[in-house]
Amino acid sequence: MNNYLKLINKNIGIHFKYNLNLYKNVILAKKFNINAFSFFIGNPLKWNKNFNIKDIYKFNNLCKKFNINNNYIIPHSSYLINLGSPIQNKLLKSINLLKQEIYICNKLKLKLINLHLGNHLNLITENKCIENIINSLNFIIKNTKNVILVLENSAGNGNYIGYNLDQINDIILSIKDKSRIGVCIDTGHAFASGYDLRSFNSCDIFFDYFDKKIGFCYLKAIHLNGSRCKYFSKKDKHSSLLNSFLGNNIFYWIMRNNNFNNIPIILETSNPNLWLSEINWLYSI
Ligand SMILES: [Zn+2]
Repeated sequence: MNNYLKLINKNIGIHFKYNLNLYKNVILAKKFNINAFSFFIGNPLKWNKNFNIKDIYKFNNLCKKFNINNNYIIPHSSYLINLGSPIQNKLLKSINLLKQEIYICNKLKLKLINLHLGNHLNLITENKCIENIINSLNFIIKNTKNVILVLENSAGNGNYIGYNLDQINDIILSIKDKSRIGVCIDTGHAFASGYDLRSFNSCDIFFDYFDKKIGFCYLKAIHLNGSRCKYFSKKDKHSSLLNSFLGNNIFYWIMRNNNFNNIPIILETSNPNLWLSEINWLYSI
């Protein structure tokens, strides 16, 4: 029963669209009065990134000035990164780009980075793709410092890996330095990939399985999303929280459960005009 008591140790934030200047994300966080947020370190659709030391300096200063706790800031890595790519030069470019983004995270004094697992592009088997992902992650962890690589579950769309907890667990089991690996559960993706989260009972079943298979110690972030598509649609279509095939129960369940305290809970919902009311609603339930 204790798990269902209303608790206040929740850090709800927003994923901001791409800003050329990193520091502008901190200004937005202040505007929304949140201490958790997510953002793109560079243009998510470009390989080449130019980082500006002044921008990093401003980001750090503003976090300090606004008293924003770095523990709840989780950048989203570039969409181009595919750590399971069957194409050798794309795989190398992906590894290099993620290393670069982790380097910037360290400069920004951030501890987490969110990433999609990878895509086999229908050119190799899922198992071979998972092997590429494991090798890429181990190499990147060995050649970077501090930051925890947070793997996000996929909606089961296209040829993306990570549409079930078993695949994510297989990857974690093969990571040599487990202090540098974590998981982000996206509610909309889980629903689309075939995990029913529409009732308290189904939420219990899903997160019990998560705890047994992977463990809450690896849960480093949550993406709160509704779904514009039906259960098991295998489509990645985010919606607002309160107008979705997913329903509302999952959000009550997360807000009243101790296991989601002290991690960033990030809205990736589709309508920025609703963000404030969605946050207020979550804190009210
Ligand atoms: Zn997400």
